Amino acid sequence: MISIKKSPVSSTEDLKYDTDIVIAGGGLSGLSAALTAAESGLKAIVLEKLNFLGGAGIFPEGSLGIGTRYQKKNEIQTTTAEVFAKVMEFHHWRCNASVIRTLLNESGKTIDWLTDYGVEIKGIRTMFPPEKSLKVWHIFKGSGARVVKIMSENIKKKGGLILTNTPVKKLLINDDGVVIGIVAKNDSGKTVTVTAKAAIMATGGFVSNKEMLKKYVPDVSTPGMAKLMYRGPAVDGRTGDGINLALSVNAALASMGTLAGNSPYLDNEPAIRQFRGPDHMKQMRCALSQPFLWVNRHGDRFYNESFGSVFSDVYNAMTSNGGLMWSIFDGHMKQYMIENGPLTPFNDIVVPGQKMTALDKGIRKGIESGFAFKADTIEALGNKIHIEPTKLRETIEKVNRYADQKNDPDFSRKPDHLVKFDTQNGPYFALKGLRAFFLTLGGIKINTNMQALDSKDKIIPGLHVTGQDIGGLYDSTYDLLAEGSASSFALSSGRIAVRSIVQNNIARKNNVV
Ligand SMILES: Cc1cc2nc3c(=O)[nH]c(=O)nc-3n(C[C@H](O)[C@H](O)[C@H](O)COP(=O)(O)OP(=O)(O)OC[C@H]3O[C@@H](n4cnc5c(N)ncnc54)[C@H](O)[C@@H]3O)c2cc1C
Repeated sequence: MISIKKSPVSSTEDLKYDTDIVIAGGGLSGLSAALTAAESGLKAIVLEKLNFLGGAGIFPEGSLGIGTRYQKKNEIQTTTAEVFAKVMEFHHWRCNASVIRTLLNESGKTIDWLTDYGVEIKGIRTMFPPEKSLKVWHIFKGSGARVVKIMSENIKKKGGLILTNTPVKKLLINDDGVVIGIVAKNDSGKTVTVTAKAAIMATGGFVSNKEMLKKYVPDVSTPGMAKLMYRGPAVDGRTGDGINLALSVNAALASMGTLAGNSPYLDNEPAIRQFRGPDHMKQMRCALSQPFLWVNRHGDRFYNESFGSVFSDVYNAMTSNGGLMWSIFDGHMKQYMIENGPLTPFNDIVVPGQKMTALDKGIRKGIESGFAFKADTIEALGNKIHIEPTKLRETIEKVNRYADQKNDPDFSRKPDHLVKFDTQNGPYFALKGLRAFFLTLGGIKINTNMQALDSKDKIIPGLHVTGQDIGGLYDSTYDLLAEGSASSFALSSGRIAVRSIVQNNIARKNNVV
């Protein structure tokens, strides 16, 4: 069992620890780092700002993995080279290629490692048509919440220390500029000082720091855009602390303007209720993304509705269209969803074949709250949603012609999704969609050991960065083709950071460095 030295140091009983690795943040990357440390016989202390563990990490439905035992068993032959090529093409190589390759190389081993601890894989899902899918998104039984629970239990079992309600405030640096620990403040007002051989920043990015968002992210402040909603935990500790602490020792930033958008979401907050809330909200969110007809605020189509599940593309298309959309369907289409389920999935939350029996309730509640609209005629619906009524009819009739031809010459919607509207008999429905985001993707520039770098690519000794505190892994947008990359990169970066700390220490002991 590992013992961590603790000694009260002053009359106010401030706390002082000496350990091998100190980790700021008890989410996915921080916990995976702590568990890896404990496995390696290192003393690790996790300091978590909030009174619960997990951060955003309680939400992921699943993670990217390549070459896992699960894939082998199911004869999925996706290779790292294949995924890497797609990712680099997606980002036009405007990203940290060697770090991405390192994280992809580790991804399968990370999934297998979790399953060794008892995490169960429910299946591999995709938001893409099968022929386009890379088949890498491993869905966790019990979602990320179970992964967090299993990792934290095992850290404690192996003697690691986790302190909640203890936000990290400062880095300790010696005269040579080496990071030698951190200072935190716990909820009893005590100063917690931890000296360590290495520190890891795992604080989850800056999704809840309004000033940083305004400063760094153009999507948040572009004039004339409809509201951008936040989709994340109700209590969120992700305020950019790890990034700012790394900046305090001259670390460099990368891709700070990039968000992981997730759209469309109904104009109803908190948006997280549509992701993890009552059935009628989840089904309404699913109805919003169905491929019947999407129009922008002028009543024009703007996207290939067949790909309504590809949430990052939808976010980007909406950004190019004022940030707002309307999803239109008629009474027959609504009935189809109730009796048969959706045509396209909403993540792993509402999937084809799952009857949407709470839809009527959702529409009723949506009409009360102002995110759903119902009318007996197309023209009346147009008036309700401030779209020129003749324009709305014109767009619907055009789509009906495409349905007759089974060909969409404008946006190439799949023929199966070209369903004809009943233009004579109502009712007609419109759901109002806005953009939402759930992660920041900018952060600290790192090398393949997850070590923080300065603007000249020089290592900042003693400082590692993981998960959403890392920058440079995405260019201008989240890459959904590599499904589950965010949580995968978080989990793997924690493991790699600790392995590199272990190797550095061995090298130092042997006077190699
Ligand atoms: C709704 C939702 C759904 C998602 N679904 C998926 C999915 O299906 N697939 C996928 O790959 N990814 C998904 N993600 C993203 C995934 O959750 C993140 O990529 C992952 O959690 C990032 O790990 P992290 O360690 O960087 O941050 P987190 O897991 O968010 O942990 C950061 C922790 O640091 C703590 N902290 C902050 N500041 C301090 C401080 N000063 N001192 C101490 N602690 C601090 C926070 O309180 C938090 O607990 C989803 C996210 C959300 C919000």
